[in-house]
Amino acid sequence: MCAVSAYPRYLEEGFQPYDPLALLRLTEEVVCRGEARKYTAFYATGVYGGIATGYTVGCCLRCIFCWVDASRDFPETHGEFYTPAQVVGRLIGIARRKRVPRLRISGGEPALGKRHLHGVLERVEPAGYEFILETNGIPIAADEGYAAELARFTCVHIRVSLKAGTAEGFEARTGARRECWELPFVAVERLLDAGADFHVAAMTDPRLMPQAERRALLARLRRAGYTGWVEEEQCDAYHSTVQRLRAAGWGFSEKSASSNSAPSSPDDVSTPW
Ligand code: SF4
Repeated sequence: MCAVSAYPRYLEEGFQPYDPLALLRLTEEVVCRGEARKYTAFYATGVYGGIATGYTVGCCLRCIFCWVDASRDFPETHGEFYTPAQVVGRLIGIARRKRVPRLRISGGEPALGKRHLHGVLERVEPAGYEFILETNGIPIAADEGYAAELARFTCVHIRVSLKAGTAEGFEARTGARRECWELPFVAVERLLDAGADFHVAAMTDPRLMPQAERRALLARLRRAGYTGWVEEEQCDAYHSTVQRLRAAGWGFSEKSASSNSAPSSPDDVSTPW
């Protein structure tokens, strides 16, 4: 496993690949404090048919197509700590006011800080709301028992979002070391074994992923034993996305914006780009 000598931010041309497992631990040290985790905002948005959302801080990947604001790259300067009880209180309050039936944590990787997530789910479970857990799968691959622990919550539907179908594609678009590329597929295998309620999404936008890699991704999923729906994502040209693509040396214009819907950024979270 490689050591992370400096905290990885957004990718720039000629970047040094990092170890996503090391980045996971480093980020948890910044964004988790006991049971609490950092958030920057709570709001409702129209995706998933209406969902109350907590915008959390911190991720263990550095995807070039990421729409999340600068809190992903500079977690130490963004957000305030909230306990699970405070988070669930905020989310349910918003869900009641906006009359939406679902809750989620977005803005970063929600599965960082397992104690916090468990505290949230233990409070959501008896409250009668569905909880959508969007994850890149790395934390579930890093912790052998995590998938089974999530599967026991009946309120949870997990959406595992894959970023690549080859080692080279994984490194080029997430910045993480290529030998770690199968970790998200390990997460899929563990969720299958655990009997979790989940589906797979994949950033297969042809502007970013070659068709051969898309085929390799689908084949690797089949080898993992997954035969369900694959939600194929398009890259929407949010300002933060375009700036990250440009910084990494990818030509991508805001005019090439996809009209497909994607998770909404909260209007009140600023980006420093
Ligand atoms: S797209 Fe998702 S997994 Fe990738 S850096 Fe952004 S929040 Fe993390």
